[in-house]
Amino acid sequence: MRRTEKKSGIKAVVVLSGGQDSALCAALAVRRHGAESVAAVTFRYGQRHAAEVRHARIVAAHFGLALHKTVSLPFYKDITANALLDPSMKIGRPKGASCPNTVVEGRNAFFLLAAGVYAKTLGATEIYTGVSQADYSGYPDCRAAFVRAQERMMRLAMEWPFKIVTPLMDLTKAQEWALAGKLGEFDFIRKKTLTCYNGIPGDGCGKCPACRLRARGLREYLRTRG
Ligand code: ZN
Repeated sequence: MRRTEKKSGIKAVVVLSGGQDSALCAALAVRRHGAESVAAVTFRYGQRHAAEVRHARIVAAHFGLALHKTVSLPFYKDITANALLDPSMKIGRPKGASCPNTVVEGRNAFFLLAAGVYAKTLGATEIYTGVSQADYSGYPDCRAAFVRAQERMMRLAMEWPFKIVTPLMDLTKAQEWALAGKLGEFDFIRKKTLTCYNGIPGDGCGKCPACRLRARGLREYLRTRG
């Protein structure tokens, strides 16, 4: 940790994965605070595709974010197994399961806590995350109830007035595309972000659950946009 980061003027830290949702969060944070006051943090946690980190860098550079830190959570593979971390597992939704086998247990809890520690170091109180409960895949740590509890836990843990900002919480994917359009970021987000579980940027492989959800929202938005 460089000492210069301590008095940074940073107001918000964006949890940035390089995907559609977190890119939209970065755009909103910059709009609210100015790029010079926004930092981002990207996690390596053994995900299949290092491409995620590359796309996070592209997003951070596009929005001119003041700081972008990449952090490793290398233990994740040692304590859980899922299709996002294990390339030998086929991505899908097991019969009777509430969410696809790409769920990484507790991921957002780890990410938000680490982002919070970083934010406090920078003197920032806001943490932006692109979680959404509207169109979501059934991941429990994308819900508003979880975010409220996590915020309270972090305030208690660090005695710091954290605010976890979730601008996409109740937006469908189609509404997210509309918002990207309103912000003038539709083309950038469509072409330069990576949502696909198979690591293909832009419109992706078209087959994995993440691509299908993204494409469905995109079709809906383009239909209404005319
Ligand atoms: Zn895909």
